[in-house]
Amino acid sequence: MDAYNYDTIVIGAGLVGLSVAYNLKLKNPDRKILIIEKEKGVAIHQSGNNSGVIHSGIYYKPGSLKAQNCISGYHSLIEFAQKYNIPYDICGKIIVATDTSELIGLDNIYQRGIENRLEGIRKLSSSEIKDFEPHCAGIAGIHVPQTGIIDYPRMAEVLLELFKTQFNGDANFNEQVISIKKEGNAVRVETDQRSYISENLVSCAGLFSDRIASLTEQSNDLRIIPFRGEYYKLRPEKEGLIKNLVYPVPDPKFPFLGVHFTRMIGGGVEAGPNAVLAFKREGYKFKDFSLRDVSETFAWPGFWKIAAKYGKIGMGEIYRSLSKAAFTAALQKLLPEIIEDDLVPGGAGVRAQACDRSGNLIDDFNILESRNIIHVRNAPSPAATSCLSIGKLISEKI
Ligand SMILES: Cc1cc2nc3c(=O)[nH]c(=O)nc-3n(C[C@H](O)[C@H](O)[C@H](O)COP(=O)(O)OP(=O)(O)OC[C@H]3O[C@@H](n4cnc5c(N)ncnc54)[C@H](O)[C@@H]3O)c2cc1C
Repeated sequence: MDAYNYDTIVIGAGLVGLSVAYNLKLKNPDRKILIIEKEKGVAIHQSGNNSGVIHSGIYYKPGSLKAQNCISGYHSLIEFAQKYNIPYDICGKIIVATDTSELIGLDNIYQRGIENRLEGIRKLSSSEIKDFEPHCAGIAGIHVPQTGIIDYPRMAEVLLELFKTQFNGDANFNEQVISIKKEGNAVRVETDQRSYISENLVSCAGLFSDRIASLTEQSNDLRIIPFRGEYYKLRPEKEGLIKNLVYPVPDPKFPFLGVHFTRMIGGGVEAGPNAVLAFKREGYKFKDFSLRDVSETFAWPGFWKIAAKYGKIGMGEIYRSLSKAAFTAALQKLLPEIIEDDLVPGGAGVRAQACDRSGNLIDDFNILESRNIIHVRNAPSPAATSCLSIGKLISEKI
């Protein structure tokens, strides 16, 4: 038998990787587990640069991994936040249709909510929208009382603290995985600093999940297309324009498109994000560029199929990225009185969106299993909300 350094190695200290490691320890505290993270701390990428929303599960296809894990993850998340004093607030949100063409979509979302057994959701007339958000305009809406906001970076810190101090887990930061090889019944993991032998491996590498998956699965048929999402913030004196969360009706083909307003748990109101093709996977500014990342995106046949089908929508997103006036115009649909001067630049996040060879954006979570290696290949929103449930699911598979 191989002499293992670890029972399980987890790549990535985002919310998904941390939750996998934490759940493995909950199940069996004696397992030797190592988290390897290339950055200096937790939640440096998607998990720390998102909208901070606890999603209710209203949007997702019943039975999908998203629906199952969002709804069970939602309850675990709240229990966890209560137990470990992580700031959160179940403040509710409204979804607003601003045009008759959106009414069917709005109704479909309501039906989804019923199918997903969300209690207390209700349809709103134009005037009832004002009861929740007096400054918002719309022709119809839905109130979702379950939606909330939370401090995800703090949650990631607490998961790491518990993993290390309560369970004696190991976590190495500033260390990058560069190669993975199957060796007999074990897995050899090479980093830029050393080499480990582990009984099994879970990769939760977010924006690099495809590159890591291709190290062990030659036939990996998904690629990550990175989409940067930029936010503005409301000036402090204008924060009163929004009480909680206001969302547009999503386009089912692009559920992540559509700027929304989000009150943040640490204070302030964010507006955004847009979705612009990023020329660097972890590039948070318009000018960030990586030749390798761009070459990989352009070399993937699926990317060109998406570009051909949805190029016009993509151009609109780029325009909104470059033009504050266009961004403001998109927000004015929901909040007519907002003007450009009310907005100041906020942060940005980059979404890891998996895409197949035929140009389909993969909507559901995707977890690829082989004998002793698990790759989380697609964990877009609501994976932050769902992280404790995804972690439990994977720990059970291990
Ligand atoms: C703009 C935006 C808004 C969002 N809003 C929400 C929201 O409101 N609610 C919600 O539920 N979800 C939201 N999401 C989705 C959510 O943030 C992500 O689904 C979730 O954070 C994914 O977590 P993760 O651990 O898989 O990835 P990440 O947080 O990206 O972590 C992956 C980690 O792997 C590390 N890594 C990668 N390669 C290597 C390597 N070779 N060696 C070592 N380490 C490596 C990275 O450095 C990174 O730390 C949003 C996402 C974005 C981008």
